[in-house]
Order: sequence, then C-alpha cells, then structure tokens
Amino acid sequence: MLSLEDALSRIHAALDPLPSEALPVAASAGRILSAPLHAKVDLPAFDNSAMDGYAVRSADVATASTGQPAQLRVIGEVPAGRAFSGELCEGQGIRIFTGSPLPHGADAVVMQEDTRRDGDTVTILEPARPFEHVRLRGEDVRCGQQIGEPGTVVSPGMLNLFAAAGVAELSVSRRPRVALLATGDELCEANASLAPGQIFESNRGMLAELVRRAGGDAEIMPLVADTLEATRDALGKAFKEFDAVITSGGVSVGDHDHVKGAFESLGGSLDFWKVAIKPGKPFVFGRVNNGYLFGLPGNPVSAFVTFLLLVRPALLHWQGARDRSLPIQSVTLGESLANRGDRRHFMRVRVGDDGVARSAGVQGSHMLHSLAVANALVDVPPGAELAAGSRTAALRFDF
Ligand code: AMP
Ligand code: MG
Repeated sequence: MLSLEDALSRIHAALDPLPSEALPVAASAGRILSAPLHAKVDLPAFDNSAMDGYAVRSADVATASTGQPAQLRVIGEVPAGRAFSGELCEGQGIRIFTGSPLPHGADAVVMQEDTRRDGDTVTILEPARPFEHVRLRGEDVRCGQQIGEPGTVVSPGMLNLFAAAGVAELSVSRRPRVALLATGDELCEANASLAPGQIFESNRGMLAELVRRAGGDAEIMPLVADTLEATRDALGKAFKEFDAVITSGGVSVGDHDHVKGAFESLGGSLDFWKVAIKPGKPFVFGRVNNGYLFGLPGNPVSAFVTFLLLVRPALLHWQGARDRSLPIQSVTLGESLANRGDRRHFMRVRVGDDGVARSAGVQGSHMLHSLAVANALVDVPPGAELAAGSRTAALRFDF
C-alpha cells in the first residue's frame, strides 16, 4: 500500500503541465497565473490628494493654528480626473479633492475640516507638514515592478491590483476538462423510480462541484453499467474529449469492478491502486496517451475524501498552482477522536466559529449525513486517540 505522500508525488510527476491561455483580467478570478505579471504604470500614477481640502505650500501654513490662522488666496480648483495647469505660488491655495493630482508648487493638503472658506480666501486653522495628506507617485507599486507570480491563484484583491496597474490581459493555465463517470448497476438518475435494490446516484454532482472548486471544468456523463464493455466504451468516449476522467465505483476487488480492466484494455497504464488512508483505500491513477484516470471508490464519503486528498491537489498541480493544500486551521477538539485501524483516518468534523471541532457524526464511509454536516477533516494517525481539549490541525473544505 502506498502512503498518501508517495501517491501524490507519483501523480504529480506523471502530470504534464497544462497549456496557457490569455484572459481579460476581469475573467481571471480563481485561475492560476502561468507567467509573471508586471505593472504598466506607477501606483499611485501621480502625486495626488488623500483628502478633500486645499493644496498648499507647507511653508505657508507651517505655524497655522485656530488662534493664529494663515490666510491663502484660492486661485483655482482641481476636481478628480483633471490636472491644474498653472503653478501654486506663495500665499495661494487650490481647492482639491481626494484623488486629484497635486498642482505644481503644492507640497501638502490641508483637509477641508481644518479650513474656513470665504469667497476667494481660505483660512487655514491647522499647520501642515511637507507631504501631509499627499499620496506619492509610485509609493505603492513602480512601473515595471513584478506584481504577479506564476503559480498564484488570482484573488479578488489581485483583480484590483492588476486592473489598476494597467494590465488588461494575463496568462493563466487552461482549466483541465474533466469527465465524471459513475459506475454501478444499482445506480439511478434523480428523476427515475427506484427498482428493488437500486439507489439514487449521488457522486457525480458532488464531484462536479469539487472539480469546479479546484479550477477544473467538469462534465457529467451518463451512468455506466457494471460490465467490461460498457465501462470500456464509456471510458474510451470520455478520453477522446477530456483531459481527465474521474470515475466512482468499480475499483475494488469485486466481480463487478471493471474500471481497471476496462482502462487497461484501452491501452492505459495503471500507476497504483491502493493508498493507505481511510476512507478510500481503493484508488486508481493511470494514464492513457494524454489523458489521466482518477478512479475513486464508490462510497460517497470515500469518493469525497479521496478527491480532496488526491485529486484536488493533482488538479491544482496540473494547473501549476504553488499552494495545493486544503486550508489548515488550528482547532481545539470538543471530543476525543479515536482511530483503532491501521491506516490514517481522515475523520469528518464540524468546526464551529469558536474554533472547536466535533465529530460530524458516525464516520462510516456510507454515512452521508455526517458528510453534509462536516466542514473539515482531521487526520488521526493509526492506533491514535486525540484527546478532547487537545489542539490539532483541521483541513477545511468549506471554501
Ligand atoms: P463500489 O465502489 O462500486 O463497490 O461501490 C461501493 C458502494 O458505494 C456501494 O454501496 C455502491 O452502491 C455505492 N455507490 C457507488 N457509486 C455510487 C454513486 N455514484 N452514487 C451513490 N452511491 C454509489
Ligand atoms: Mg459498484
């Protein structure tokens, strides 16, 4: 049996990086930068006012106070989006607004609240130091400076920075196109009526959303019957159109488990099929031409956990992402978590706003209510009992 870490490094080593594509900045949120980005302008782009008030020469108002105000003659106004063409001279002030360019000759701004206006005269009631309430050109970002690193996920804050820095288009990894197959003669589509022994299929919708959250483009394929031929046909069709196929079910040692055989009969080579984690021991990874197979166990909880621990990092790595771990939160256990087995058990917990984690319910890999309630996994080592009240790491998946 492979360790989780070994399984991951084997998957990562097998994945050829996805090609890049150019996108408008506004459409790039959540995508992974594939090339460095550089600012096209200084930020701020010019010296400008941080306040509504008056642009002044600080020397003229250095000692101004309520008792001994300074008086300046107002020679003009600079609304946002305009520049003042003249120059501010001794004894003069210019009406200015937040974001307006600082006029030539001015080196400070006195905020409106510290002034009194009377016709062409403004009375300054507080002193100003040089550059007070002035935002300096380039103090944030210099033109040409690197503002985006390959491997970074584009965040809302970055959308703002890139747009402000004059970047119109950027280069990101193409989204992996992923087909979702569910195998099993017992599976029914949602609107069907169940025959005896049948169940509603529930993995594909969950996996589609998980794929989307990992940057992929998921498509739900028709149900696959438990025969070698049906499995081979479905896989063959999917690999013609998609970069990867995720299957659920049919990867164990049962007589009706055909994913491995069907994949090999298509010329695919299997990398391994057992990983030492619970839930989710049977797991298949393989390659056929330029396509990759991720074969997940059919139990919905196992499919969920193996996706998060093995497929999600793989999809992110494939797109060149630097950070591939689930968000880690340090939590206090509200109750003990015991693992009596010989594999690492990734237990489903619910972490409250108070940072206390409790078991999300019964941990069996067919127990779906606890899956729906959980928002994190706690990695409990084989044979270990993590005591109530102890601190541990939780892997959040409710992002
Ligand atoms: P398998 O891995 O095919 O042996 O399936 C293990 C268990 O998961 C069985 O109880 C299946 O009925 C169930 N199962 C398999 N695939 C799905 C699915 N797509 N939706 C819901 N349950 C499934
Ligand atoms: Mg099955």
